[in-house]
Amino acid sequence: MSFALAVREAPAPLPSTADLQLLFARLNLEHFKGALRAHRIEYNPRLSTVSGRITYRPALIELSSLLLERNPDHVEDTLLHEMVHAWLHQSGLPSGHGPEFKTKMREVGLRSIYHDLPVARRRSRRRYVLECPRCRISIMRKCRPGGRVSCARCSPHGFDRRVEMHVREIVR
Ligand SMILES: [Zn+2]
Ligand SMILES: [Zn+2]
Repeated sequence: MSFALAVREAPAPLPSTADLQLLFARLNLEHFKGALRAHRIEYNPRLSTVSGRITYRPALIELSSLLLERNPDHVEDTLLHEMVHAWLHQSGLPSGHGPEFKTKMREVGLRSIYHDLPVARRRSRRRYVLECPRCRISIMRKCRPGGRVSCARCSPHGFDRRVEMHVREIVR
């Protein structure tokens, strides 16, 4: 088995919400003839399954700071994706990911509706390796253990901090 160590990079700075408004204005002119009504744009750190979300009343676009910090180059596409939803809604068209969405999406230059896919794939590749300091057995888990765990082989009858498993995060 070989693992690449995941180096935890410092989160890239995301555009300020003022910059997001400028970006919105530019994309609005470029792709929607400036017809989209104003939206509040905010970062929501609790959004973890999609990189963006829109609500129409009030007109609000939320971007996942959690996911976009790791993929700052997806900010523009995520915003544009939500703007396609806004345009459909405003035009009285079905605002889900149906055929109207796909037509407009291609028109504005987006290639896939799954704007959150690169993020999802990357997240699912995260693994945790638990290693015993004594017998060196290593176990791979998809989730970080909830608390401290010791080696089940070296300490079968309960927690023993002398053989506490070292936890290491990897990305395969
Ligand atoms: Zn969408
Ligand atoms: Zn052990």
